Amino acid sequence: MIENKNIHSLIKKHNENKLSHVFLIETNDKQKALQDITNLIKIINCTENSFIPECTKCNLCHLIDTANLPSLKIIYPDGQAIKKSQMEDLKRDFLNVPYLTKFNIYILNDAEKLNASSANTMLKFIEEPEQNILGFLITNNKENVIHTIKSRCEIIKAFYEKESSYFKNQNILDLALKYLYKIEVEKEQSIVYNKIILEEKLEKEDLLELFQNILTIYLNCINKKEVPEKMNQLIQYSQQELIKRIDLVNRIIERLNYNVNVNLLLDYFVLSLED
Ligand SMILES: [Zn+2]
Repeated sequence: MIENKNIHSLIKKHNENKLSHVFLIETNDKQKALQDITNLIKIINCTENSFIPECTKCNLCHLIDTANLPSLKIIYPDGQAIKKSQMEDLKRDFLNVPYLTKFNIYILNDAEKLNASSANTMLKFIEEPEQNILGFLITNNKENVIHTIKSRCEIIKAFYEKESSYFKNQNILDLALKYLYKIEVEKEQSIVYNKIILEEKLEKEDLLELFQNILTIYLNCINKKEVPEKMNQLIQYSQQELIKRIDLVNRIIERLNYNVNVNLLLDYFVLSLED
């Protein structure tokens, strides 16, 4: 999942061939921004066209997860600065034409730690976009990034709420839990239980949030993060079963964005779970 919507929107830009070649990501949470960018790189390169970052099928995603993809370099400052020698190494690595991905990609953490000489070396990639190089610079304050670099970047703001941004609306979460409990824990996977949701006569926005909550619960299971106590049983599902569910919920969310018949969509959800 890509949590930040501005980073998420780059998928669409990529698919339309409108992606810039260097981004400056200004964020209040560098860790989360790095995670979102890594997930973005997986999604746009995944050979299974799996639209979730949890792809476990393709070698490419596996190489990214294990930091072994030759065309992806993640750089951290060496001490107090990003050094000129680090940028020279990167330049040398990127003389190789990428063969597993369309782009050679770098992620530069703490971009405010570029100094005049490392920035100067770096300008070479930035000014030769025809070389199929894609860059993401992460900073907590764009004003501290050296001007020659900043001025050549597309700036993306990626702010994260300190509290988890999931589960904002307690009522919708309660409803999602009640529904999921029936169809997953009590295992009465009957379309009768769709009444629980249909009776609420939810707006599209709320339905979307409901399925986002369900998606988050499945994602937390697969990532071994905390899940609501009632749902503990889901942790025992195999990874394959969880991926099937994540794929399914993603399809539901996608269709909700169009004007689909909600009754039929919920029936489809429950019946697909039964398969
Ligand atoms: Zn993949």
